[in-house]
Amino acid sequence: MSQTTPVALSAKNIHKSFGDMHVLKGISLDAHEGDVISILGASGSGKSTFLRCLNLLETPDDGTVSLAGETMQMKRRKDGHLQAADRKQVDRIRSQLGMVFQNFNLWSHMTVLENLIEGPIRVLKRSRAEAVEEAEALLAKVGLAEKRAHYPAHLSGGQQQRVAIARALAMHPKVMLFDEPTSALDPELVGEVLRVMRSLAEEGRTMLVVTHEMGFARHVSNRVMFLHQGQVEADGTPDEVFGELRSERFKQFVSSHH
Ligand code: ADP
Ligand code: MG
Repeated sequence: MSQTTPVALSAKNIHKSFGDMHVLKGISLDAHEGDVISILGASGSGKSTFLRCLNLLETPDDGTVSLAGETMQMKRRKDGHLQAADRKQVDRIRSQLGMVFQNFNLWSHMTVLENLIEGPIRVLKRSRAEAVEEAEALLAKVGLAEKRAHYPAHLSGGQQQRVAIARALAMHPKVMLFDEPTSALDPELVGEVLRVMRSLAEEGRTMLVVTHEMGFARHVSNRVMFLHQGQVEADGTPDEVFGELRSERFKQFVSSHH
């Protein structure tokens, strides 16, 4: 457990509604450095919305997000909606979060290497030579050094997702957020992506992972949070959550994901 390490990312009392649908009903989470937290829950329980609130792709209706010593400042507009008070702060917070989506989202007109160096050159102001050197090391780490000159369309889904992970790492995020990173993959390609994620976990990276992979949740993460209809239904170590204390709802969820 990493309860003794500093808090890397803190969300407090996050609420979010779309129209009159109250999707997140007060979610709080402290991710300590080195924590690997699996976020589980049925489809529609609010998992993606929660991650999107953390990186401020959605603006929470209430609550705060703190990261890297900064707490997001919000202000209420005349029409009652909240908005970020400071766009630069939103950019700073977002730049500390590496995001990996279900559908890879690589830039299709760029080679694998170009996908990895674009952000470091434009945003981190690295020289091209530095960015290429680091990109090559990251591609080697995810087992794709020989694919550097390929275009995404010529890679398998598992390879594309490994590139997407390397691209996120190239930005030196403090915390990695994964939203169902293996859900769009053919079953035989899931393992190669989970192996990369496991190696990141073993390096001590802080990760929040929305997943339906029960093996990853039980054996790789050190903490499991189960959402039900926008609320935290269970939260603890895998042993606590999967063990005897598990709720009926969680049992049903687990049995429906074999
Ligand atoms: P999960 O990722 O757990 O499947 P989501 O966070 O995607 O769940 O969605 C939670 C609920 O919020 C769903 O009912 C979904 O339809 C709704 N929702 C998500 N995003 C929007 C949006 N931009 N506008 C309206 N409803 C949304
Ligand atoms: Mg989702």
